[in-house]
Amino acid sequence: MELVSHFETLFREPIVQFFLWMAVLYLLSNVFIDKRISFWVSSIGTTWFWLKNRDPMVALQVWGLILGFFLVFLSLKYFFHMNLFLFLKGKKRCPFCWEEAHRKAKVCPHCRHSFEDA
Ligand SMILES: [Zn+2]
Repeated sequence: MELVSHFETLFREPIVQFFLWMAVLYLLSNVFIDKRISFWVSSIGTTWFWLKNRDPMVALQVWGLILGFFLVFLSLKYFFHMNLFLFLKGKKRCPFCWEEAHRKAKVCPHCRHSFEDA
C-alpha cells in the first residue's frame, strides 16, 4: 500500500509526467514514423504541448535535465573516452570496423580484430 502511494506522488510530479509523455510519444513515433527522428518528434512534441497547455517552467527544467545528462555524456566521452550508452549495454566499440562488441571480448566478432594488441 505504501509503494502505491509512493508511485502516486511520483506520478503527480510534473517533470515525471513530462518524461512519461515523452516516452509514450517516443514509442509511438518509433513504431509508426521513423526510428531516426523519434527522439526529435517526442521531445519537440512534448515541449510544444507543455508550452501551450501547461507550465512552461516544467519544460525548461526538463530541458535543463536533458542538457545536464548530455554534458555528463559528452564529458565522459571526451575526457575518459567512455561511451555511457555502450557501457550501460555492456559493450565496447571495435576501433577497426566500428561495430559493437561485448566489453570482455578479446576478438571482434565482426572483423576478427584482436583487442589484445591495442
Ligand atoms: Zn571489428
